[in-house]
Amino acid sequence: MTTTTAPQRTNLLGLSREEMEHFFLSIGEKKFRAAQVMKWIHHEGCDDFAAMTNLSKALRTRLAEVAEIRGPGVVYEGSSSDGTRKWVLEVEDGSYVETVLIPADNGKRRTLCVSSQVGCSLDCSFCSTGKQGFQRNLTAAEIIGQVWVAQRSVGPRKDTANRPVTNVVMMGMGEPLMNYDNVVPAMKLMLDDDGYGLSKRRVTLSTSGVVPMLDRLGDELDVSLAISLHAATDELRNELVPLNRKYNIRTLLDACKRYLAKCQDTRMVTIEYTLIKDVNDQQEHAEQLAALLEELPCKINLIPFNPFPHSGYEKPSRNQTMRFQQWLYELGYTAPIRTTRGDDIDAACGQLVGRVKDRTKRHERYIRSIQIDAD
Ligand code: SAH
Ligand code: SF4
Repeated sequence: MTTTTAPQRTNLLGLSREEMEHFFLSIGEKKFRAAQVMKWIHHEGCDDFAAMTNLSKALRTRLAEVAEIRGPGVVYEGSSSDGTRKWVLEVEDGSYVETVLIPADNGKRRTLCVSSQVGCSLDCSFCSTGKQGFQRNLTAAEIIGQVWVAQRSVGPRKDTANRPVTNVVMMGMGEPLMNYDNVVPAMKLMLDDDGYGLSKRRVTLSTSGVVPMLDRLGDELDVSLAISLHAATDELRNELVPLNRKYNIRTLLDACKRYLAKCQDTRMVTIEYTLIKDVNDQQEHAEQLAALLEELPCKINLIPFNPFPHSGYEKPSRNQTMRFQQWLYELGYTAPIRTTRGDDIDAACGQLVGRVKDRTKRHERYIRSIQIDAD
């Protein structure tokens, strides 16, 4: 007996320009349809072909048969007292990812912190995503879907001067360079004028140092780069970022230089340094860090460790954090301290899965717990 299944409709949300053009050619349409439909999806937040009034009725009907625009489902949306907004999104297999919009500069900048994976395989010792283990890579549609959802919920893009999302950082759950094939098309859509039209300086990829993929990225895109360093000696970094045993600090910094050399304009790498009490927050650590970074055009961001249950680490005191900043200053570095935003909705960037760790938790219990956080 033969069974027939309905042909799968193509989800257009995650298609880069080239993929979208290819799709239209494959259904016997002209390439320029790609730009028209991309504008509807990414500028207008549209998910209904019937509303795409600059397409013929026949094409709209055809598209509804062979394609769809399917974003992640919004399970929870919360705002915190400092204006930070957070969305918990349900993706294909019922997993959750979180995305956070953080306002800055008196509302001039709105930075969206985007996730690339459900969980992460790299198991950094101070990271709750790492402790959760790796579940799966997000698809390109699920990655760009986070920007799409945030923009739709803040309001349609009226003009380029008034964008709901002005910056994107790939600093949510997961290691973006371990999901290269889906992250790159999604980032292309962030930069494309018919996508989100963000400048490459306003789109940042953060990595713990997957060196071969960093080299590949430099050949394809020149978005801003943030490196999660956290330690200036291999001995300590091996402990905090196990990937360092494969690609050590020297190898990583050399790859950063190659990346900068490929960028079309003058650029700096952002070095992320999570300060952990009595682990990497002493004067000798500041001195080692300053000496190490002498040769790399970079700026340092200090991130006080964001505690989570059973991490075994503590956050340094405010005084110690300021002392560390002062030591770096005396050594020639102005290193801003990245303040945790949206504390009341558990929305610190890079620390998004605080409440999802227990995978056995029932859906309802999870939703209840984050709603209590938001009160
Ligand atoms: N996997 C990528 C991007 C996601 S993590 C990376 O590691 O760069 C984003 C940032 O948050 C990284 O710099 C990461 O080291 C940092 N981070 C993770 N857990 C943290 C914690 N508990 N406290 C403070 N920063 C943390
Ligand atoms: Fe993965 Fe980044 Fe967390 Fe390390 S810090 S476990 S690379 S998400």
